[in-house]
Amino acid sequence: MSNPSLPDLNRFGQIVFFTGAGLSAESGIPTYRGRGGIWREYAYEDYACQRAFEHNPEKVWDFHDKRRERVAACEPNEGHRIISEVLRAKPNSCVVTQNIDGLHQRCGVDAAKVIELHGSLWRVRCDREGRIIDNDQVPINPRTCACGAYWRPDIVWFEDMLDPKVLDRARQALAACDAIVSIGTSAVVYPAAELPCIAMSNGAVSIEINPEETPASHLYQFRIRKSASEALAMLWPPA
Ligand code: NAD
Repeated sequence: MSNPSLPDLNRFGQIVFFTGAGLSAESGIPTYRGRGGIWREYAYEDYACQRAFEHNPEKVWDFHDKRRERVAACEPNEGHRIISEVLRAKPNSCVVTQNIDGLHQRCGVDAAKVIELHGSLWRVRCDREGRIIDNDQVPINPRTCACGAYWRPDIVWFEDMLDPKVLDRARQALAACDAIVSIGTSAVVYPAAELPCIAMSNGAVSIEINPEETPASHLYQFRIRKSASEALAMLWPPA
């Protein structure tokens, strides 16, 4: 390995890739925070919370249709590709992601191996009927379920709670893993931000990939200050 201080991750059988918006930045999807972050442009109170949806579902859907359009036009990048290959070689490994873009799955990762903490842009639910369906239309049409209620993006919006079942699956995966590779997350959104500590306190080797320092950086044994695709290619160099 070109950097002798990094561990050889081929030795580990159960890796959790803990991914955030920075992984998809190289695909052209803006991150939340930092330069180009979308919440500098849009107030979440008007577009991404339950109150906004109840007040003006059309406006919220206009915004989410734009996000669908933007994401649909992007492709998974080299970072997604390397993760997908590692998961194929190590069937007990998985992804725990804060991303809602579905790019891991579009890169060939089995949906069962992707734990989506904050939901998905590509699922909608009817809260009246308690039904969730996949939907990849751009734009979505119609915006209402057969029962007449508006579909709601199945996304954890600001002020929402995470689905306890999803959180539980993530906690179990992190408790069982022997290595955690955290990629492109600012580590400030809770409870997601505290999940990597479960793996660390169980003795997993821990690596943070982020061009910038984060509030959690000091917790990681290894820190790689590079973009996601560069760092992953360093950890898993092409054969
Ligand atoms: P964030 O926007 O708060 O932070 C992004 C992090 O990625 C930053 O620390 C930044 O330094 C780093 N980064 C930027 N470019 C990078 C690169 N090329 N390689 C590696 N790292 C890079 O994102 P977050 O921590 O995931 O959390 C915030 C919320 O953002 C989550 O709730 C998530 O649902 C949501 N989000 C998702 C998407 C998506 O699905 N692609 C996009 C934007 C926001």
